[in-house]
Amino acid sequence: MRDLVLVINAGSSSLKFSLFQEDGAGAPELMAGGQIEGIGLKPRFVAKAPDGTVLAELDYEAGGGHRAAMQHFVDWLGGWLDGRQVGVVGHRVVHGGSDFTEPVLVDGKAMEALEALIPLAPLHQPHNLKAIEAVALAFPGVAQVACFDTAFHRHHPWVADTFALPREFYDQGVRRYGFHGLSYEYIARELRGTAPHLADGRVIVAHLGNGASACAIRHGRSIDSTMGFTALDGLPMGTRSGQIDPGALLHLLTDGGFSADQLGDLLYKQSGLLGLSGVSSDMRDLEASTSPLAAEAIDYFTYRIRREVAGLAAALEGIDGLVFTAGIGEHSATVRSRVCQGLGWLGIAIDETSNQRHAAVISTGASTVEVRVMPTNEERMIAIHALALRARS
Ligand code: ADP
Repeated sequence: MRDLVLVINAGSSSLKFSLFQEDGAGAPELMAGGQIEGIGLKPRFVAKAPDGTVLAELDYEAGGGHRAAMQHFVDWLGGWLDGRQVGVVGHRVVHGGSDFTEPVLVDGKAMEALEALIPLAPLHQPHNLKAIEAVALAFPGVAQVACFDTAFHRHHPWVADTFALPREFYDQGVRRYGFHGLSYEYIARELRGTAPHLADGRVIVAHLGNGASACAIRHGRSIDSTMGFTALDGLPMGTRSGQIDPGALLHLLTDGGFSADQLGDLLYKQSGLLGLSGVSSDMRDLEASTSPLAAEAIDYFTYRIRREVAGLAAALEGIDGLVFTAGIGEHSATVRSRVCQGLGWLGIAIDETSNQRHAAVISTGASTVEVRVMPTNEERMIAIHALALRARS
């Protein structure tokens, strides 16, 4: 019987998991997945089969935090495995700093290096690392692989990696790391199979989910991204502001009475689509709303995507392909249409019928840029890395 790959994505109040089985040809096949949400508040555990069938559901008492969440998960997993073994565990780790350019097999030395990166991602990195420690206790001796949201971007040229601050800040790690790297890497890999003519070309991928960013990929490698030192820069998101003049932040700190914590809350949790619309952070709600503010929020969102796509096209010195992915990118024909309507001058023309039915290719035959809609799958990318690293170890 083949070993299973467990993929863990541990956040501040949630723990998501997927279980894959190696299909015999080195590719992971999804067997089950689920999550514990509301950790610390109103925890709820759900596990599902790939067809959506609920395998387990449990509401349990708050208290015990992530440790209790992991224990509930391990208890369920023990029964579900029914004698099968977890052969390797892959973790989504938000920050790999400037040194981790690819996934790494976690040992004491790697763990130390990852802990040293906590100040770069204080909201996420500690949870990612705690999950690694918890898995080490629950599955002693099982190999663990850390996969980074930043790694795919580590080959950016210097001009795309730096801020125009005095040099010592770059040396101290104040750089444009870029995020959503596992999603972009997955798309670049998929293009090799589905659109090899694009895989070696100049492609811009717009990852539009609750978090949103865009990435310029040449010959399968990221050369620039809209996200910077944190996952706050670039495009507006569900509740995050995206790019903002740092002078406005100085103003809010010095004259607006904001503390650093309050400013963080404003930028991460109250801004973006939610802040602009006052209606919701969810694109489905905005599209269904009759509020003019909701319409303006969509205007701003699509305008900024067009600006960034054009900027990334300049970085690539042209564009052969544009890919829409993640929740909004995959499902909102309105957003895709609004973005592409303003980019005709770049050679982008979409066929509205194909767009409305979310076809794989939505560009017209006359479009010089091939526009695609592709599902992303960060968990699968992590499973692929975990299997590959275990095979090499
Ligand atoms: P996350 O970044 O949390 O993984 P997702 O990739 O799931 O987020 O994307 C969530 C976003 O996708 C939400 O704004 C949601 O409204 C949007 N979305 C999902 N389905 C649709 C749809 N059919 N039409 C428009 N937006 C959609």
